[in-house]
Amino acid sequence: MDALITSVLVFLFGSAVGSFLNVVIYRVPAGLSLLRPPSRCPRCETRLKPYDNVPVLGWLWLRGRCRYCRAPISPRYPLIEALTGVLFLATFWLWGMTWATVGYWLLLSWLVALAFIDLDTLTLPNGLTQSGLGLGLVVRFALPLLQGDPWPSPIQSLMGGIVGAVLGIWLFDLITIFASAALGQTAMGGGDAKLAAMLGAWLGWQGVLLSGFLACLVGAVVGGAAIALKLISRRQPMPFGPFLAIAAVITLFWGETLIGAYRAIFFPTL
Ligand SMILES: [Zn+2]
Repeated sequence: MDALITSVLVFLFGSAVGSFLNVVIYRVPAGLSLLRPPSRCPRCETRLKPYDNVPVLGWLWLRGRCRYCRAPISPRYPLIEALTGVLFLATFWLWGMTWATVGYWLLLSWLVALAFIDLDTLTLPNGLTQSGLGLGLVVRFALPLLQGDPWPSPIQSLMGGIVGAVLGIWLFDLITIFASAALGQTAMGGGDAKLAAMLGAWLGWQGVLLSGFLACLVGAVVGGAAIALKLISRRQPMPFGPFLAIAAVITLFWGETLIGAYRAIFFPTL
């Protein structure tokens, strides 16, 4: 019973963070302040009350409409809240109530914001990728201290993040060269390399290699399917950030299992 209550609380906390990420996704690309003004209905501009802002439930309760002018509110808002809640809950189930969980909640928040901003605007704001990279290095250095882990040392952990970040940039140059040759057009934006550097800082060199591979795989499958189904044209620019973010989540949750399985198949004697 306790476990159930804790899980519900973690989900609610995650969805409240998701509610703030909705604000980030909308306001950061537009260059607006995150704090002012408080949330308003985009049509009637009525200031939302705290009880209108209850994640997921508020939207369901009002059946997706503004309480005051009945303007429809996009289901994307509660979906991003629910998504963030689920990601926070999965992290909590895997790492428990630890500093690692808190660190990964930060990473996941940055990834949700970046993925949806890239979907909307085809850009990854420098402010978010750079702060995400810096934060990754800080968390890497701090985690061994906070958790009292005997290994790796804070310096080793930090070095792993720096190596990962540099590798992320190199990997991206490589992917860009191959993808541009394959598609006959510039395939990647500069923001993608910065996001890859950020992932390297968080996930280390093995993690960033796995993420790059998975992002290309998922991107090729989804992009290929979208072109085959005529949802997009071959020439239409497609954001790569969301695929990197999905790949990073897979790497965070299942990376060790995947890398372990790869080793067992190809290098069974190591
Ligand atoms: Zn309204």
